[in-house]
Amino acid sequence: MNKGNKLYEGKAKIIYETKDKNLVIQHFKDDATAFNNLKKAKVEGKGVLNNRISEYILTNLAQCGIKNHLIKRLNMREQLIRKAEIFPIEFIVRNIATGSLTKRLGIPEGTVLDKPLLEYCYKKDELQDPIISKDHIYSFGWATNEEIREIDRITLRINDILSGMFRGIGIKLVDFKLEYGKAWDNETEKKEIILADEISPDTCRLWDVKTEKKLDKDRFRKDLGNIIQGYQEVARRLGIMPEETNISEVNFGKATSIKFKKK
Ligand code: 5GP
Repeated sequence: MNKGNKLYEGKAKIIYETKDKNLVIQHFKDDATAFNNLKKAKVEGKGVLNNRISEYILTNLAQCGIKNHLIKRLNMREQLIRKAEIFPIEFIVRNIATGSLTKRLGIPEGTVLDKPLLEYCYKKDELQDPIISKDHIYSFGWATNEEIREIDRITLRINDILSGMFRGIGIKLVDFKLEYGKAWDNETEKKEIILADEISPDTCRLWDVKTEKKLDKDRFRKDLGNIIQGYQEVARRLGIMPEETNISEVNFGKATSIKFKKK
């Protein structure tokens, strides 16, 4: 599938058009940003790892009946995906209190929540993605009541599936962010809600079960070092990273070769 014009460039990904109006190519960059773009760096190898990890997770979710935008991975950095009109909302799920929840409400770090907590943020960089209520969503027409009900249901199901999947490889799924969109369905000739974007250590907090070592983007946000090694560890435990893979990191940088198991 040939790449056409660039349609959109975000902080970590680029979207290109294709000859098919319903399909686009998602390219994973090595750029890492945090704190509303105040902190930036190139983390060589990150795009390749996120592409592979997200492909693995979205493929597994599809097998569990969760409709998502992934058609197939094309190469080390690119996926063919369904074009979707993205809701301007970040759907956050929390199982353990950390990050902005602890800062905003003073909930002690590490508190295990009785049930998954759903939060909504307005996707607006200039406003630093503020937290919003469902009423904001309905008042400003960002999604309907029915759409949010469906998305909440899918989100909780994803949390169940992924919590189990990660627990099985010794990782706690602490929290994560999802994005959804509406895409054209050729069969029903209607738009349908699908999971979009990516699910990777960039969008999830993943802690080792025994040591609580962070294996996600907090290594970058909090200057913990060994960012790529964290992502690589997630890929390795998921069984999509061969032992001989060689990624070294110097000052958030310098990756050498990354090879993945052939499917
Ligand atoms: P927090 O609100 O604590 O900063 O983030 C909650 C969860 O959502 C974390 O797993 C975090 O990685 C994810 N998240 C929230 N906002 C964003 C965002 O703008 N980009 C990415 N990649 N992840 C986000």
